[in-house]
Amino acid sequence: MSEYSLSTPVTQIPGIAKQRASGLAKLGIFTLRDALNHYPHRYEDRTKFVDVFDAEDGDSVCLTGIVLENPRYSFVRKGMDLVKFNVADDTGKFTVTYFNQEYMRNKFAIGQECAFYGKVKRENGFVSLANPEYERVGAIIPVYRATSAVSQKILLGLVEKALDCVKRGELTDHLPLEILEKYDLLPLDLAIKNIHFPENNELLQKARRRLVFDEFFFILLALSVLRSRNDSSSAFRLPGEADYGEFYRLLPFTPTSAQIRAVADADADITSGKKMNRLVQGDVGSGKTMVAAALIWRVCLAGYQAAYMAPTEILAEQHYATLSKWLSPFGIRTVLLRGGMNAKEKADAKRLLRSGEARLAVGTHALISKGTEFFKLALTVTDEQHRFGVAQRGALNAKGAERPHTLVMSATPIPRTLAVVIYGDLDVSIIDELPPGRQEIITSLTNENYRGKVNKNIEKLVGVGRQVYVICPAIEDSSTMEMKSVLNYADKLQGLLKGKCKVSPLHGRMKSAEKERIMADFASGEIDVLVSTTVVEVGMDVPNAALIVIENAERFGLSQLHQLRGRVGRGAHQSYCVMFCGGGNEETIKRLKAFCATTDGFKIAEADLRFRGPGEFFGNRQHGLPELKIADLRGDEETLREAQAAAGSVTPQTLERYPRLAERVQALLDKIED
Ligand code: ADP
Ligand code: MG
Repeated sequence: MSEYSLSTPVTQIPGIAKQRASGLAKLGIFTLRDALNHYPHRYEDRTKFVDVFDAEDGDSVCLTGIVLENPRYSFVRKGMDLVKFNVADDTGKFTVTYFNQEYMRNKFAIGQECAFYGKVKRENGFVSLANPEYERVGAIIPVYRATSAVSQKILLGLVEKALDCVKRGELTDHLPLEILEKYDLLPLDLAIKNIHFPENNELLQKARRRLVFDEFFFILLALSVLRSRNDSSSAFRLPGEADYGEFYRLLPFTPTSAQIRAVADADADITSGKKMNRLVQGDVGSGKTMVAAALIWRVCLAGYQAAYMAPTEILAEQHYATLSKWLSPFGIRTVLLRGGMNAKEKADAKRLLRSGEARLAVGTHALISKGTEFFKLALTVTDEQHRFGVAQRGALNAKGAERPHTLVMSATPIPRTLAVVIYGDLDVSIIDELPPGRQEIITSLTNENYRGKVNKNIEKLVGVGRQVYVICPAIEDSSTMEMKSVLNYADKLQGLLKGKCKVSPLHGRMKSAEKERIMADFASGEIDVLVSTTVVEVGMDVPNAALIVIENAERFGLSQLHQLRGRVGRGAHQSYCVMFCGGGNEETIKRLKAFCATTDGFKIAEADLRFRGPGEFFGNRQHGLPELKIADLRGDEETLREAQAAAGSVTPQTLERYPRLAERVQALLDKIED
């Protein structure tokens, strides 16, 4: 009987000293159970046995044979000794050598039958193996993500101890039997055993599928619980029907049918008596602001308030200008809330919101900070949703006494598989049509040889009254990184174009008042060329800008480049995107060339997922969802679909009948909402 159980802390295992324990903690391993969930990141297949005669140079294989002699030990020089012996099978002979492992001389003896796994060296007919493995031969061997403090060996030892507990029946399956049967899934204990020590390749694949299924299943189930909580929560039911035509008539353009459809979707939500949780997904420039404005108009005219949350101060400022322009003719008063306001301004804005005199609040996260009270908040709009986590959506929602409707907007087209995982708690409207008359942006990839030509083009465009963005990855030059920087670039360009145009830098380290002034000057045409970091990435709207130059394009993801490119081509002028590439491998160049060839945001998103993985889509912020440990959104689509169906079939009754399932979902929800 072992003295360990799955909940035994690793610190109680002999041989786990303090620095190892902290190394293990870094890997997320505190108990033996955690070791079970530290899946191998790859495997070595040591099931391939070959005859010595067939062993090819460079192959990693198992060779077996009889040891022909007692190992010979030789001291070569300080820090270098050898243990060497010959082994033979029926087809030939090979030499085994261990370097600097003197103790190996006692492991082998003449006449013994042994198996070795290693990389074959064949030279002039002589076959040899250097430092081969002789244990765990004939098996598929796990290779773990290890660190300097925690070796493979330590991890293997912990997993073995944990698997002993599994063998004794300590690990009970949390999935209902009917789901296991319906989707032909391996029981949990078998899956765990085979993910670590696969009996064969088939079982390894089955084990992996079961664990991928689990991972998707719990995320989706947690999201669907969140969603059903929302569905049942009380919400402002807006009375009657609205004639949106009244609002549309005062807009400077005619809405597209996709915009009208999105408004209708949302209108149906807010009149249903259930809480709206809707995502509006539309490519850059597809006109999402107007959709939000229409809903805000509707809600405010019905006597309620709305809040519009933007990810940056610059955007909040811009949306404040647009929305108040569109809404003020209807007597709707808008206030701007942001971090940089002084106490008096803040107090004024808050008072107006509390009393209900102001109907719409536009702001950044400052909006959700404590102390902002609304009179009757019935709608929240969150722009560029992918930058906020699930938890942040929740924080804004919690403001109203009754839960307000939520509309979230994303300009980052997201591959369908990912949308399921990130937005599983939302309904989705897609704006798949751009306003008429937009010209396709001409995109090109270039290099330093064309620097002069690009500068000439900047001058030419500004000469005919257009404006230009230049994007650099860094703010200042740095001695360690070879990147274009905003400050240096702006200086140089201004020197070059002296008297011909006005160049200004913009970056995130500036005070917000300064940023705002520069933004306003660019919007009004006072500044011709804006040299900026990616602070302009989202949502900036200056229709007169016709060229964007992106430096070190290799440093950006495709979706981000797509966002940047969307800053131009917003007016009637033919627009251009020129990317400089300052390095990167063949793959990067291929990626950037693919980007030049398409302007379809969804295609770009799919490519991004393939090239860079899902991290790109979660933005810099904590998205609130747990990291995927084994599932791969690029290859596990089918399992995702199955898990989605399975999670959809779980009812509150199922959760009652399967407490272990309910427990795991709750644990995940706690984590998401934390
Ligand atoms: P995004 O979806 O990227 O947030 P915006 O709402 O900022 O897009 O709209 C981009 C630009 O297109 C704005 O200048 C906006 O006024 C304009 N616009 C929006 N809808 C239409 C339309 N139906 N027709 C013409 N221009 C439009
Ligand atoms: Mg926008």
